Amino acid sequence: MECHGAWTSHDVMWHGMNVFGNLDLDVLYSKPVECPVGNCNSRMAPMELLAHLLMRHCPQESMLEINANWPTLYEIELAKLTPGRNHVIAVIAYAGPPNPSRSCPVTPELQIVHHMPMLMLLYITPPEPDVEQAYVFYLVSPTDSRSVNAHVTLIDCTFTHEMRGLRCLRNSLDAPLQNSDRLLHCNTDYLVYTAEDIQKLCEIGKKESIFSKIILYGQPDLFG
Ligand SMILES: [Zn+2]
Repeated sequence: MECHGAWTSHDVMWHGMNVFGNLDLDVLYSKPVECPVGNCNSRMAPMELLAHLLMRHCPQESMLEINANWPTLYEIELAKLTPGRNHVIAVIAYAGPPNPSRSCPVTPELQIVHHMPMLMLLYITPPEPDVEQAYVFYLVSPTDSRSVNAHVTLIDCTFTHEMRGLRCLRNSLDAPLQNSDRLLHCNTDYLVYTAEDIQKLCEIGKKESIFSKIILYGQPDLFG
């Protein structure tokens, strides 16, 4: 396969258009996802899982605190994923821009006022004849906050190639978002990669595993 040093979003976009037509994105919100805390094994819809993580588990067991403009990487082991299911990629307590006047560590006393809880999920479409599989990444939080958004990309195991997905709105009737098309919002849009995109990254890294890079921006304000 021919690999270029850097891909333009057009490469991804052309493939993404083909798979996107068959995708009912709203359905993802009702698909159960497994709780990522070891030995829990509970399964529930993504929004319920967020509440479950906050109420049934200690935040420091499951959540990673992230400040604004701070890139974090999450390994995605492809062999462990099941098509037709949601998977938790990251559980985040977003603290926003650093604020010296308040303490930020994720502790049992984590205050929802200070940290915006978020999940990054991945859904893989089931295999169908003549339709390329889609890898759909999306963010879930308690609000449709437009003041917080994320730059999400995939990177191969050697950290040499970064790939942007095709950003799609959850509801095609929504007005186009004002922000840059490089940013992913909570509960409103999605990032789609094709199986071919994922395969390209695996071939570069020579491993059935890739990384997702997330950088969050904005001021978390759940009640604003
Ligand atoms: Zn649990």
